Amino acid sequence: MIIDCHCDALLKMWLHKVDFTDDLVLDVNLPKWLNSPVKVQCFAIYVPEHIPTESKFIVALEMIDLFFEKIIKPNPDIKWIKQKEDIERLKDDEKGAMLTLEGLDCIGYDLFKLRLLIRLGVKMIGMSWNTANLAVDGLGESRAAGLTDFGKEVIQLANQEKVWIDLAHISSQGFKDAIKLADHVIVSHANSRSICDHERNLNDHHIQRVIDKNGLIGLTFVKNFVVSKEKATIKDLLYHMVHFLHIGAENHIVFGSDFDGTDQFIEHLSSIADYRSLELAIQQSFSKEQCQKVSYLNFIRHFPG
Ligand SMILES: [Zn+2]
Repeated sequence: MIIDCHCDALLKMWLHKVDFTDDLVLDVNLPKWLNSPVKVQCFAIYVPEHIPTESKFIVALEMIDLFFEKIIKPNPDIKWIKQKEDIERLKDDEKGAMLTLEGLDCIGYDLFKLRLLIRLGVKMIGMSWNTANLAVDGLGESRAAGLTDFGKEVIQLANQEKVWIDLAHISSQGFKDAIKLADHVIVSHANSRSICDHERNLNDHHIQRVIDKNGLIGLTFVKNFVVSKEKATIKDLLYHMVHFLHIGAENHIVFGSDFDGTDQFIEHLSSIADYRSLELAIQQSFSKEQCQKVSYLNFIRHFPG
């Protein structure tokens, strides 16, 4: 059993008008999911950069509509996850789907829009994508600023509503500011910078801050976040897991594939169905307890509420 805390299938479904039921362009579609050990999949709302500011919130709502119309409604065995108990209640033949948000561009300066998204089921608030928004800078923004006062209000709201603050993509100063304030911290898709020196990965100091805050980090399968050479294997990903375990993150790592968010994947790990190979590989290398923790227990134990 696996819980995956980040994929961009909703983005692809929205951009390319493809069908969740069978379109092969999706790394996460219904048959691949059913043929995988993934019990709960998080679906991110990511509004692309090129969408004009005034249309971004509508696009976020359209993606939420796709989530309900194409994933939840037609599939009675896929349950909408809103709280920890929804995961614990899943029967053997059932799976769970949860909404998350990647980047705050779509709410502009309107906190009520974020309140509505939370009411519609968003359980994880990604503070930024790579550029700046009105809450904080992303790590691609050269200004590299931390939280604005509005960003602090966002975190206050997340704390009140008991939802995760997701620090993937955030600027270094933003990370420092946000981790102090947020009650429930996750970095939904990032690896170790000691193993692969990519700016989206976390250095040991960042990782220690997440551990101190009792937060979570989602190991991700984006090739460039795994190795700096041309090809990555599942074994290369396991080096990251070894490092996280070595520095004491056993209770703080989960999986955050980023399926459908990139086409640069680890060999033999390019769709949700390939989780079977990863599951086998970790079982061969780590203890049963460690495998259970990273696969699903850490996520469930840290679920805000
Ligand atoms: Zn991302």
